[in-house]
Amino acid sequence: MVCSQIEIKHYDNFQLTNFNTLRIKSIAKQFWIPDNYGEMISLFKKFKKETPIVIGNGSNILFSSKGIEAPIIYTGNIKEVFIIGNTIEVEAGLKAQTLSKMAYDKGLSGFEFLIGIPASLGGAIYMNAGAHKQTISDYLINAKVYDYKKNKILTLTKEELNFSYRHSILKEKPYILLSAKFELEKKDKAQIKARMDENLIFRKNRQPNLALPNAGSVFKNPSDCELSAGALIDKCGLRGFRIGDCEVYENHCNFIINKGAATSVDYTNIVFEIYTKVKEKFNVELTPEIIYIGKMTKDEEKKWKILKK
Ligand SMILES: Cc1cc2nc3c(=O)[nH]c(=O)nc-3n(C[C@H](O)[C@H](O)[C@H](O)COP(=O)(O)OP(=O)(O)OC[C@H]3O[C@@H](n4cnc5c(N)ncnc54)[C@H](O)[C@@H]3O)c2cc1C
Repeated sequence: MVCSQIEIKHYDNFQLTNFNTLRIKSIAKQFWIPDNYGEMISLFKKFKKETPIVIGNGSNILFSSKGIEAPIIYTGNIKEVFIIGNTIEVEAGLKAQTLSKMAYDKGLSGFEFLIGIPASLGGAIYMNAGAHKQTISDYLINAKVYDYKKNKILTLTKEELNFSYRHSILKEKPYILLSAKFELEKKDKAQIKARMDENLIFRKNRQPNLALPNAGSVFKNPSDCELSAGALIDKCGLRGFRIGDCEVYENHCNFIINKGAATSVDYTNIVFEIYTKVKEKFNVELTPEIIYIGKMTKDEEKKWKILKK
């Protein structure tokens, strides 16, 4: 369907199952697919009261099974790339894996880690995604963001983006990532390829692929404990632990798999149970990485308040 006034693709009462890697069933009241960031900005102007929620590849979100009232904006069509020499400028919706391959094609190193992360650029910057000793912020020069409160486009330096472990300024301010500019390193293509392959093999051996719906690592690794989140969960005897249709992955305890018809309530309950068991046994409070979107039940609200404090 096309909105007659501003001609931006959108759908009413849209099923979100294919727009989150956990494959949670949830209905968005309105689902918008702008073709460029000008269109995305116009949607923020259109919906002044009910601030839209921007999503990328949905690989780190938990949609409420009760549905989403606020308009959702999907960035998947905002994906232009400009490459000049070692400099690469990318729009928010480009898939991280595509970006990794494009950099490789040009003999540019710095994005080898992205080959196994099912993210969009916007989501990767929001989360400061990282793996295999690389992060999205390593080679970043600056980023264009839209401040939807002030209705202004700003160019922020890497320092101004305030990156830390799984954190960026996008989590603090009313900013939407439009694009980012990176300066990568020229390297031998065979060397880049070898590192990408190594990363993929590492994942294949340890982590579930998306045929087993999941949202990546459930908890951040705690900074005050020498054990990883996965090891702590394992030592609590929770390997294979199940609530409803959510199950702790047998091969890596920091992943939760949707066994078929999981709901946001199942996911919340299992995450809370894991958090509680680890706290009781090790006195370590794990912090979930996932972002909850939509209206919570009273019980979910109570649990996420504790989990995100
Ligand atoms: C199999 C698997 C493996 C994974 N491996 C890793 C890993 O190795 N390292 C790692 O860090 N993560 C990993 N993840 C988690 C996830 O891929 C990352 O957190 C990723 O950065 C999320 O990107 P996304 O586009 O899917 O964001 P989404 O899930 O769509 O959104 C996440 C958050 O970002 C916000 N957002 C999205 N786009 C924008 C934008 N343009 N402007 C402002 N905010 C925006 C959303 O509102 C939401 O709050 C993995 C996930 C899976 C399923």
